[in-house]
Amino acid sequence: MQRVSFRSFFIFALIAAVVVTAGVVLYWRQVNVLLEKDVKIHIADAARDSAGNFIRLVEKDQEILTTSALPIEDSYPWQDENSLQEMLARLDDKDHFDALVFIYADGRAIYSNTQVRPLSKKAIQDLLRHTSKNNFYSTVYQREKGYPSAILIQAVPVDPNDGVPVGALVAVQKENYYRNVLALTSMGNDGHSVIIERNGNVVLAYENLPHSNLFTVLESVTLDETLTLNGLRQDLAAGKTVLAGYYTPDGKHNFLQFIPLPINNWYMVSAVPAKYVEEQATQVAKLSLVLFGVVFLVFYFLMFFIMRVRDDSNRQLFTTAFVDPLTGADNFNRMCEQFNSRLEGLNRQAALVIFDISKFKVINDLHGYERGNEVLKRVAQVLQEELQPEESFCRLSADKFVLLLKYEDRKSFLKRLKALATQLKRNCTVADSCLVLDLSFGIYEITEDIAFYIMLDRAHLALDRAKTHTFEKYEFYDAADRARIVTEQQIESSMEAALANREFEMYLQPKCDFVTGEILGAESLVRWNHEGRMVRPDEFIPLFERNGFILKLDMFIMEEAARLLAAWQANGTPVVPLAVNFSRLHLNDSRFIPQMRRIMAQYNVPNKLLEAEITESVIFNNLERAQEVVAGLHLYGFPVAMDDFGSGYSSLNVLKELKFDSIKLDKEFLSGFEENPRAQKVIEGAIAMIKTLGVKVVTEGVETREQADFLRKCGADLAQGYFFSRPVTVTTFEQLLQKKTLL
Ligand code: C2E
Ligand code: MG
Ligand code: MG
Repeated sequence: MQRVSFRSFFIFALIAAVVVTAGVVLYWRQVNVLLEKDVKIHIADAARDSAGNFIRLVEKDQEILTTSALPIEDSYPWQDENSLQEMLARLDDKDHFDALVFIYADGRAIYSNTQVRPLSKKAIQDLLRHTSKNNFYSTVYQREKGYPSAILIQAVPVDPNDGVPVGALVAVQKENYYRNVLALTSMGNDGHSVIIERNGNVVLAYENLPHSNLFTVLESVTLDETLTLNGLRQDLAAGKTVLAGYYTPDGKHNFLQFIPLPINNWYMVSAVPAKYVEEQATQVAKLSLVLFGVVFLVFYFLMFFIMRVRDDSNRQLFTTAFVDPLTGADNFNRMCEQFNSRLEGLNRQAALVIFDISKFKVINDLHGYERGNEVLKRVAQVLQEELQPEESFCRLSADKFVLLLKYEDRKSFLKRLKALATQLKRNCTVADSCLVLDLSFGIYEITEDIAFYIMLDRAHLALDRAKTHTFEKYEFYDAADRARIVTEQQIESSMEAALANREFEMYLQPKCDFVTGEILGAESLVRWNHEGRMVRPDEFIPLFERNGFILKLDMFIMEEAARLLAAWQANGTPVVPLAVNFSRLHLNDSRFIPQMRRIMAQYNVPNKLLEAEITESVIFNNLERAQEVVAGLHLYGFPVAMDDFGSGYSSLNVLKELKFDSIKLDKEFLSGFEENPRAQKVIEGAIAMIKTLGVKVVTEGVETREQADFLRKCGADLAQGYFFSRPVTVTTFEQLLQKKTLL
């Protein structure tokens, strides 16, 4: 799960990176386009500013010059040239011009100061010509003799008579006065302007150009694709505003903005290197990149954070869904989920094992839940260590574990399982004391392609069987288990109806006097007339004990016994006491004695005629409760017999604590005594000892005369066994009763 999420995260991050990069590239392009547009506007603005400044400067000069001309006109005619020169000098002191010059109509020139280089004749003629026609004339002389650089000249006519001008007043300016206007400061000092004539001749330049004609300069550069030099010439001739881009031979990209001026058809040409644009663009792009980077990082970090949170919650979900909180191992859900793939991983050569810790509750009760939990954790730990990679396990319930193990053959598998059990038992030393674990294993060898839960069922069936063993609690599932379950299910579904239909029948087995062979009593034994077959109790009683139906069945048999006793009483037939077997389940049923009393009262039969048989093992396991029940039965006059004495772990303590009326020696107790003198001694001693307690001894399973003789010699009171009679129907029994003896 984790792997998937990280892979998707990286794919996502990659896609995000590609998208962001594409975005950056697009953005970069867009920024460049916009910037170029912006810069063009900027250049145009700057050029317009520059042109405006130049025009304003010229207009201001014109105004000053016109104002200066007024006193000259007023004082006309002048006394002499000296007074004119003095006036010029005075006027010149107030203005910023380099010099003021008055030119007579005949070409004579008077200068405001003596430092000024005289103007050439050509210039003088040019000025007179223009001022005779115009109110103002502005021009630039490039190479006026004696002047180090170009000079700007402004001129107005002097016309005191308002007719034909008597001369012209001229202001001389050096080129650098205008230079400031030609520097494009707003373009980062990299740009500057040039004033040209429409044919390209340079009028004023910020710095010296290699040629005096701009077109000649442009011939050596590469114009932008949309432009040609001729086109440019035509545009200028037409007085258009033009923006032109070009590359210099050394690869520099520049822009030229052409703006027509209202003076002499001049053009203001502003040149700005594209470097300025690029620098701006780079800066903006750099800034955007940093921004993008920051945004991307924040985004990436956020995504990472979200993924982490998602991963964490997934992990948490996974833990809740698939991990056993106690042992930290897989839980059942996880096993279900992975089962098929694990099975394939083992090439389907596997076995499903269920094992449980018998009497785990005792560990909890005796040592506390903490210890119990420790044990389960250790078991999980050992399994974790012992299992191979493709194998798996989980905790099914409190003390039940399911294993999926590699399987080759039964022998080697059992060997491995036993080794595993040893390991589990060995490792069970918790908190310095060793607990003995009693483990039972149910094994299903996976041979069929069936659902996991069916396999589990099968392993469970085997486990149920394994639990019935005392040692070596390993069982393999076999088809008989299945058949048994099917029969059990059939029995369960039909038992109630069987009871109602009187399919259960009471058989009686006589209890005879050893010496006389006379019938002194009988034990009632249930038979089930099931589908035409007399089914023996061993086949259904364990099941009825598990499902509780035995409580009803015992009472049914008891009622049959009571009914028979009542019938005998009524017929005047000789009455012998009948014994009824009661399951261990009655011990904990408070209705037990009241029910017995009610039935006996119903049939009006004295309680002493009905003996209750309770098996030894039940009494042994529940001594206190048994004591209460025996006392209760005695209280109402029911005789009580201990059944199957000597079949299990007989305890003399039981004899000491409980007052039975009779004790039934189990057939197992007698088996093989003939060849075993020690056994004979034990039987002899047991009978003698029981008899000294004043308890009657009944021997079960007497099959031979030898047995009968021996037991009689030992002093046993009553005999029950095939030697005298098998369990028989009531009718047969009544016939037997007619006989004086069964010997
Ligand atoms: P149990 O109470 O010890 O009954 C004696 C069993 O020994 C009977 O088996 C009887 O048929 C058998 N038996 C008697 N004489 C001989 C003999 O000489 N040789 C051999 N081999 N067997 C002999 P059965 O009838 O199959 O009953 C088995 C057990 O089922 C009984 O053992 C008793 O514990 C239980 N059972 C029978 N009927 C009832 C009942 O109505 N209620 C309850 N709770 N248990 C019953
Ligand atoms: Mg019995
Ligand atoms: Mg018995």
